[in-house]
Amino acid sequence: MRFPSIPTLIRTFHAFTNTTFRAANPARGIYSLPQRATLVRSMPNIPFLGALFGTKMADNTNYPIQKTEGEWQAQLSPEQFRILRKKGTEAPGSSKLDKHYPDAGVYTCAGCNAPLYKANHKFDSGCGWPAFWDAFPDAVGQRADPGLGMMRTEIVCNNCGGHLGHIFKGERFGNPKDERHCVNGVSINFSPEDKKE
Ligand SMILES: [Zn+2]
Repeated sequence: MRFPSIPTLIRTFHAFTNTTFRAANPARGIYSLPQRATLVRSMPNIPFLGALFGTKMADNTNYPIQKTEGEWQAQLSPEQFRILRKKGTEAPGSSKLDKHYPDAGVYTCAGCNAPLYKANHKFDSGCGWPAFWDAFPDAVGQRADPGLGMMRTEIVCNNCGGHLGHIFKGERFGNPKDERHCVNGVSINFSPEDKKE
């Protein structure tokens, strides 16, 4: 296993500590900056950080499928490349898979064909993107995604690292798991065969 690059770790660490401080004590405000700087200066060694972020916050270098940017560009459509490899977002309501509710079948990664979701994981969230309340075990990874003035959790294909969308929790849609995988339709394909049971 290769470790994430140092700049990536520092960015992640910044985001992590920033969120922790905000969550722990929102009244702290301006004092959080010097504290963050101190934390980064006294940053623990890399193996410790690797353990801290674990598999859930995996870096791009850990995925079984490894391709260069040029190889992905040659394989994917421009829109797929923009979303899967550059963390783009498709326009809401634009995917034909949004209002797609088959009785059986599997949704696979558009980048590497790995099975990600079963037909019965899908539900109508009304948000404009395909929504799933669960995934195949270990098929979808999660990474902290700071930006847009908030901390969101990005979801990625655990086989190729392709960006799928974001996961939201505690919205009470009434599914067995109180989660919503908000997935770009461009990032997935549908196969009527059950590829994994
Ligand atoms: Zn993939």
